[in-house]
Amino acid sequence: MKRIAVLTSGGDAPGMNACIRAITLTAHRMQMEVIGFRHGYNGLLKREYQPLHPGDVVDIIQRGGTILRSARCPEFVTAESAEKAARNLDNMHIDALLVIGGNGSFKGAEHLANYWNGNIITLPGTIDNDIAGTDGTIGYYTAIDTALEAIDKVRDTADAFERIFLIEVMGRHAGFIGLNSAIGSGAEQMLLPELLEDGEVNLEQIIRHVKVTRKKRGGCSYIIIITEHLYPGGASALADKLTAEMGVDCRPVILGHIQRGGSPVSMDRVLATKLGAYAVEAARDGKHLVMIGEQNGHVVEVPLADTRTMEKPLDPYLVKIQTDFFDLVKNPS
Ligand code: ATP
Repeated sequence: MKRIAVLTSGGDAPGMNACIRAITLTAHRMQMEVIGFRHGYNGLLKREYQPLHPGDVVDIIQRGGTILRSARCPEFVTAESAEKAARNLDNMHIDALLVIGGNGSFKGAEHLANYWNGNIITLPGTIDNDIAGTDGTIGYYTAIDTALEAIDKVRDTADAFERIFLIEVMGRHAGFIGLNSAIGSGAEQMLLPELLEDGEVNLEQIIRHVKVTRKKRGGCSYIIIITEHLYPGGASALADKLTAEMGVDCRPVILGHIQRGGSPVSMDRVLATKLGAYAVEAARDGKHLVMIGEQNGHVVEVPLADTRTMEKPLDPYLVKIQTDFFDLVKNPS
C-alpha cells in the first residue's frame, strides 16, 4: 500500500477535519502518500485534489467544516460517473479510498466498488447519527451541544414571557439529535419520527399536554423539540396550527445550519481521531467495503452493506426517562 486518498461528502460535520488530520498523520507514519479529493465525489470526477502532508493538517483539529470541502454530487449515481472515477483513481495509482460522510456517501462508495478494484473504507461523518453499526458519528456530539446552547437561550426568554416555543432541530429522518436535545434542555415535549403513532403528529395530544402542564405549574415556559421533516411545512406551520387551536401564542425557532458549524467538542475530536487512524491501518491490511465505527467504546469494522440493512433504534431507556418525566397527562398528580 503506497497511496491512499480521502474525501468528505454529503453534509459537513464538525470533526471531519480531525479525521482528515488523523488519516494524514497515520499514513505518513506508515510511509504512505495521502491525496485529498475536494468537494466530495465531484473531486474524483474532476480530478480536483491536493496532496496532504503533516504540515497541511496542523491546527485543523479544532476547526469545524472540512478543509477538503464537501458537496453533493447527484450525477455520481450513474455508471458512467463511477467508471470515470475508477479510471481517475487508477491513473493516479491510488490503492485505497477513504470516504468520510453519511449514508448517502456510503451508497456512493458501494456504487464505486462495482467499477474500481481498489480498497474502499468509509467513516461515519454526519451530525444526524443515522448510521447503523456505530454508536456515534463524527459531528453528532457537537450538534447536540450546539442545539442545547441555543435552546437554553430560548428558555430564558420563554421563561420571562411564559411562552410556548416549538424548536426544530436537524436529524434528517432520525430523532437522535431531537431526543438528546430534549433530555439535555429539559424540554417538556418532543416530537420525533420514531415515536409518532401511525406516522402522524397528534395535535390533540400535544395540546392536552401543554394545557395540563400549565394548569399544574401555573404560568410557565414550555418547550417542544421537533425533528425536521416531521410536519408538512415544518415547525413554522405546526406553530401556526397550535397557536390557532390553543388560542395561545406558540413561537417557532428553527435552529438550522448552526447545528453543523462550530469547533468540534471533545467527543467528536477523539472519535474522529480514533476512527481516522484505524481506517488507515485497515487500508494497510487490505480491508475493503467496511465502515470503521465505534461500539461500546471500541473501534469496530462493520461490513458496509450492514450499515444499510441494520436498524438503529433510539435508546429506549432515554426515551422512557424523557417520557416518564413529562407524562403529566397520564400521571397528573
Ligand atoms: P448527510 O446525511 O450528513 O447529509 P450523506 O452522505 O447522507 O450525508 P447525501 O446527500 O445523501 O449525504 O449523499 C452524498 C453524496 O453521496 C451524493 O451527493 C452523491 O454524490 C452520493 N450518493 C448518494 N446516494 C448515492 C447512490 N445511490 N449512488 C451513488 N452515489 C450516491
